[in-house]
Amino acid sequence: MNYYSLHHKSPISTFKNAVVQGLAKDRGIYFPETITPLSEDFIKNIGNYSNQEIAFEVIKQFVGDEIPSNILKEIIKETVSFDFPLVKVDDNIASLELFHGPTMAFKDVGAKFMAKCLEYFNKGNDSEVTVLVATSGDTGGAVANGFLGAKGVNVVILYPSGKVSDIQEKQLTTLGQNITALEVDGVFDDCQEMVKTAFLDEEIQKTLTSANSINVARWLPQMFYFFFAYKELQKENKDLIFSVPSGNFGNICAGIMAQKLGLPIKHFVASTNVNNTVPNYLIDGVYKPKPSIATISNAMDVGNPSNFIRIQELFNNDLETLKKAFSSYSFSDDETRATMKAIYNNSGYISDPHGAVGYLGLQKHNLQENEFGVFLETAHPVKFLDVVEETLPVKVEIPEQIKKVINNKKVAIKASSYQDLKNFLMN
Ligand SMILES: *Cc1c(COP(=O)(O)O)cnc(C)c1O
Repeated sequence: MNYYSLHHKSPISTFKNAVVQGLAKDRGIYFPETITPLSEDFIKNIGNYSNQEIAFEVIKQFVGDEIPSNILKEIIKETVSFDFPLVKVDDNIASLELFHGPTMAFKDVGAKFMAKCLEYFNKGNDSEVTVLVATSGDTGGAVANGFLGAKGVNVVILYPSGKVSDIQEKQLTTLGQNITALEVDGVFDDCQEMVKTAFLDEEIQKTLTSANSINVARWLPQMFYFFFAYKELQKENKDLIFSVPSGNFGNICAGIMAQKLGLPIKHFVASTNVNNTVPNYLIDGVYKPKPSIATISNAMDVGNPSNFIRIQELFNNDLETLKKAFSSYSFSDDETRATMKAIYNNSGYISDPHGAVGYLGLQKHNLQENEFGVFLETAHPVKFLDVVEETLPVKVEIPEQIKKVINNKKVAIKASSYQDLKNFLMN
């Protein structure tokens, strides 16, 4: 499969090149040249397929012949090795729990898939690939875990000192092997800036790539769980509305790709916190990125969502067409907390702040008689323990995955400027 840059100033790329490079030379993000719907038979009979078989059908056209089928199947087996349960919290609303993976964040799926593709593509190369990633918390752990032990791939994770939760810090600083954590004296934006500077620094001779959702191998596997959900929801025989708590808009964009492949989804709601660049755009047609604002759903604190350009491409850059299939609403922290409480009081269900924002999006959409709403629960409540235990009268039980890392010893290299990162990369 070929990919083109959405800045249209770089040559067409193979899947391999798009994965290894991350971003095109013209700084545009990659988009597949063709999207071919799956057969109606497959979708109708989806209940007869295992999750691994579904994932293979969904992804294979985007990989093409660049990874042999048997190897792609192996990669998928490692990627979707856990459950994606739907939990009803209302007659017509369910939570799609994406947090049963190794780091309890939905990013586990994309991170593992990308790591395995990169490992495959770099096999037989003498030189190693270095994955650089800046994290405000969740991405780092998923990437560290996904890439752990990948041959020929080194991972450097930059995180802001004192600004990630204890659990998140343990998840990204305790693994060792090919994973190095740089503890940056600064905020997330400083980490991001250092990564960007490194990509442009010609003195660094290493092959660098990024592991955020601009990378097609991290973005596309997110289509899987919309199919997995449909497998369960087919029997409801209702029009499906998906509300996706959104930050960089990679996850919801993958949902729209799933719809393009023929999945019968009626409408998408992109639910955001007060970082409302996209909701504002839908109101007045002016796309105005702005600095991010800190919230309790901090994995979505993004002022300039990098995947929105892909969503526009999917709707031929036509705002009116987009608005028919897609809404976007913004919610405050107060509304989020009130909703966590309401969900808990009504059903006993403990949502994390991101999931609660997703639920709010369904409320705002105002589900009709023949509609069924799904909100994506993108992180386990334990990942946002402080907020959850402050807001709800509960004590969250620490799951096994987390217990495993919590007592491990943190190892991180302190970095206070770009030069520290550069020194590390040059050695
Ligand atoms: C990354 C993340 C999101 C946002 O996903 P995008 O694809 O960037 O829109 C939402 N919730 C959690 C918990 C996350 O880690």
